[in-house]
Amino acid sequence: MPELPEVETIRRGLKPVQDRRIDAAEFRLPRLLLGVKADKLAAMLRGQRIQAVLRRGKYLILELDRDTLIFHLGMTGQVTHAPKDAREDDRFRRTVTGMQKAVGVHPVDAHTHAILHLDDGSRVQFRDPRTFGKIIFVAGHDWQDHPRVSKLGDEPLDLKVAPFLAANYPASSSRSIKSLLLDQSFLAGVGNIYADEALFDSGIHPKRRVSTVTPDERTRLLESVKMVLRHGIKHQGTTFSDYRKPDGSSGDNYERLKVYGRGGLPCRNCKTLLIKIVVAQRGTVFCPQCQPNQHKRIVRAEGRPPVPNKRTAAEKKRATKNSVDKSFRRAHT
Ligand SMILES: [Zn+2]
Repeated sequence: MPELPEVETIRRGLKPVQDRRIDAAEFRLPRLLLGVKADKLAAMLRGQRIQAVLRRGKYLILELDRDTLIFHLGMTGQVTHAPKDAREDDRFRRTVTGMQKAVGVHPVDAHTHAILHLDDGSRVQFRDPRTFGKIIFVAGHDWQDHPRVSKLGDEPLDLKVAPFLAANYPASSSRSIKSLLLDQSFLAGVGNIYADEALFDSGIHPKRRVSTVTPDERTRLLESVKMVLRHGIKHQGTTFSDYRKPDGSSGDNYERLKVYGRGGLPCRNCKTLLIKIVVAQRGTVFCPQCQPNQHKRIVRAEGRPPVPNKRTAAEKKRATKNSVDKSFRRAHT
């Protein structure tokens, strides 16, 4: 799913469409549209110039002369800009691994659901094979007030860590730290890829409860979020299947990921095999060595009453045997 770095890469790549006029618009899958009917929208857009291409969280925003279009790319959305002289052989190619390798802009096909024809003969195309994307029409420029946008949390790249945490960190929450990172009303733009990468970078187990993450760890985590997002933008986004830059080519960040998509492979830091689990209903990869789930031990060390000993006689016997074995080994090696 395209996250902040992917959408930001698309925004930057769409610079050439700024100040271009929309001569015609086609919307081929009406259920992707929110707030307007397809034929009405096409009529309203005709003649409007694209004044600005913006981003908020994972949303791509086109501010027009009078109105605003907001794109959400869902799981597999692609926004590409096809120049007037796009060659017929500039097209996507599939490799045998199922990973799409792209060269150039995809030709219009059954998955191309919206096309903006611009006055220089170029086209902005919205393509989305799985159709979880959305195109939202907002009359006027007050798109920040749209319910989907107004509920978003701060932009991670702009925020100052200490005041942000003081104002927004839900310190008594028992939810997992990963689910907090994925919550768009906490931080806008972080999804599964960059949440896993930031948790790894800061050495925090994804299942840790929000309330057990120490103030130092929170700071480290937020700094890691900023770092992995900047890194993702620098390498123009992560392509593992469908995400595309506006010129149709793949992002460069996939090879550089430390944990996402690497379950069962050795950790790049310590060579321990990475583990894949499900946290917050999402596939989650972490390193058991670099991201220990140690909060239970810490909580007890900080003075909580000891957990009552409920071990059965058999468990006690086993535990005693283990400790004897260990002391035996220690004495004889
Ligand atoms: Zn490791």
